[in-house]
Amino acid sequence: MTPALPVAPDAGPGPGMDEPLKRILGARTATSLAKLGLETTGDLLRHYPRRYAEPGTMTDLASLVVGEHVTVMARVASATVRSMRSRGGAMMQAVVTDDVHRLNLTFFSKGPGALRVHEDRLRPGAVGLFTGTVGEYRGERQLTHPDYVLVGADADNEAAALTEASRPVPIYPASAAVPTWRIQRAVRTVLDPLTEEQVPDPVPAEILGRHRYPSLLRALRLVHLPFTTSEAHQGLARLRYEEALVLQTELARRRAEVAALHTTARPARPGGLLEAFDARLPFTLTAGQQEVGEQLAGDLAQSRPMQRLLQGDVGSGKTIVALRAMLQVVDAGGQAVILAPTEVLAAQHHRTIRALLGPLAEAGTLMGEAGATRVALLTGSLGARARKEALLEAASGQAGIVVGTHALLGEHVQFADLGLIVVDEQHRFGVEQRDALRGRAQTTPHMLVMTATPIPRTVAMTLFGDLEISELAGLPDGRAGVATHVVPAGRPAWVGRIWQRVREEVEAGNRVYVVCPRIDSDDAAGDDVLDDDGLLLDDDATGGPGDAAGRPAGGGPARPPLSAVTEVAEQLRAMPALDGVRIATLHGRLGPAEKEQAMADLASGAAPVLVATTVVEVGVDVPEATLMVILDADRFGISQLHQLRGRVGRGSRPGTCLLVSHAEPGTDAFERVERLASTTDGFELARLDLELRREGDVLGAAQSGKASSLRLLRVVRDADLIARARQDAEALVAADPALAAWPGLAAAIEDRLRDDSKEFIDRS
Ligand code: ADP
Ligand code: MG
Repeated sequence: MTPALPVAPDAGPGPGMDEPLKRILGARTATSLAKLGLETTGDLLRHYPRRYAEPGTMTDLASLVVGEHVTVMARVASATVRSMRSRGGAMMQAVVTDDVHRLNLTFFSKGPGALRVHEDRLRPGAVGLFTGTVGEYRGERQLTHPDYVLVGADADNEAAALTEASRPVPIYPASAAVPTWRIQRAVRTVLDPLTEEQVPDPVPAEILGRHRYPSLLRALRLVHLPFTTSEAHQGLARLRYEEALVLQTELARRRAEVAALHTTARPARPGGLLEAFDARLPFTLTAGQQEVGEQLAGDLAQSRPMQRLLQGDVGSGKTIVALRAMLQVVDAGGQAVILAPTEVLAAQHHRTIRALLGPLAEAGTLMGEAGATRVALLTGSLGARARKEALLEAASGQAGIVVGTHALLGEHVQFADLGLIVVDEQHRFGVEQRDALRGRAQTTPHMLVMTATPIPRTVAMTLFGDLEISELAGLPDGRAGVATHVVPAGRPAWVGRIWQRVREEVEAGNRVYVVCPRIDSDDAAGDDVLDDDGLLLDDDATGGPGDAAGRPAGGGPARPPLSAVTEVAEQLRAMPALDGVRIATLHGRLGPAEKEQAMADLASGAAPVLVATTVVEVGVDVPEATLMVILDADRFGISQLHQLRGRVGRGSRPGTCLLVSHAEPGTDAFERVERLASTTDGFELARLDLELRREGDVLGAAQSGKASSLRLLRVVRDADLIARARQDAEALVAADPALAAWPGLAAAIEDRLRDDSKEFIDRS
């Protein structure tokens, strides 16, 4: 297995994975590793290589970008020391090559003596890893005082050197202060003396045997000190499975826990509000709405709390489905709350629900029908009086339905008898938040979570693994749909034509959205594309972080500043083509009354053009809207663009979405925008979205919640493995819900929850 390697003399067998690195590696190394967040043996061994360099495969030196910190594998071509007459002192210049391109390495010193050491080691033909920041001197790229390590150079004899030289070299996520081979050396020191007893395995032995996985210690050795890449992969596969198992076991435990809870059954009541509502519905339910409706009705009739995720593409009609479930609960004497991510959407739900219910929502007024209820709106920015009134209606039970924002889960909201929580557009809402919500009522309420961001099944299993999943298939009949076109921003004539088109739509009695990534020119959001609630958007709209060799992701020529709502609105108002057209604006910095007014003016046609940020992204429903112009479309992510465009073509009139893009062909952004124009299938786009994201981004800042701290697992690539782990986890929890028989697994879950809550705090 592992060859005999020099081991620090005092590194006797310690207490295993919890041993502080300081004790094994000494203060200096431990301090620098601590900067990477690595404090214990376990931390270090769970710091997995990002990739492996094959000694035979050189880094393409032509790809290096000036200013980037890089680690490259290259062969030494020459090394010469000379004195510098002008400045005094000495300098050594070495040249390394990938067999095609060259890179200079430059070292300075007071005298030639100190440089001889380098000259001695950097023999022509030697292969090594070199790390430093790429600079430029006289048109040639160079690394000044690079840190380096030569492949096979540390071995005791020639045979060992040969073996060492052919092994894959793990490249760790590192920093300028701690180069990858210092991490590698530390890992060896720590890993070599460890014994199986010191490394408890979270995966039960029976499962290891069944899947033929190596033990944890063996897997760590394979991953950190592989002899071949296939060994490394074998180790990684097992570590990935472990991650999936830990996660799925926790989720299975939660499902079992909630399933064991008792809640009030809310069966449908004949002759109630739901029946009256169905009778006054101006359209017939789609087959999908009917099917999901029956499923929900059945769930609510149980005394075990419903916990269901409802996925349905943009415009599939989820609101009605939710409202019907809420009415069933009200009929059964309970209350229901629906939570939206933004105030705009909450206000809209309040409006829509009241309009759909008509006299059924007017209890206590002359217009109210017998058996009617009330619908209260509770948002953070309500005036004191309105707020007090709404709180009172919720607490007294007068309001059967309460509409609010996610942010509003304030402690002081009391319900008389909360039977159902509906969370709308919930893709930013993690497991913890759901738990917190559930805990708010005396008896655990039923819960329905809705999202229009289609999520592949295994992603859903991971992110929403504590929920059962329903799909709302199909769109209501008579939807005219949306045609999407890309308009290159570099073509003034085409862009000019857009505003002409806006005028035509307005003259035909339609409504137009113009979406910008920023509010005004002071608004720095352009870099991060923050939405109006200050949350990071789902998509990594700005492109990934560079790749492992340190190349930046984007690059390309400078672009004009991102469009901003207030400026674009001014420009449009001054435009002859839009003479006499009222143009409103909407963004997160407006007060609630102003937001409400802008939406109302758009709906009524008083201001038929609305210039807005992505605050219109989710759920906004104005059936007369036919045209959406998205400026700087290349700065948005796929699911976000899909959501945005879902705002038009909702009525009987066909919609058009124009994506004004600066993206250059060949970039990810270009691909995103083009593919979006080519399909309206939300699931296909979700798959593409996942494909285009760089490693690690899939569950990054994006979908908050449990899965954000996945290290190795990739939800698309590892779909089978996740499904297998889910099955195994179910069986374990069914056999022993307390996991008493598998202390290693229980401990791993504890660790993970601790990490996650840390992360949660960091993020907020
Ligand atoms: P989403 O699923 O995106 O939340 P909504 O619930 O906002 O979609 O519904 C979109 C539009 O479709 C609304 O105007 C709604 O009134 C309408 N709608 C919903 N169900 C039907 C139906 N069965 N037939 C016709 N229109 C419907
Ligand atoms: Mg909706």
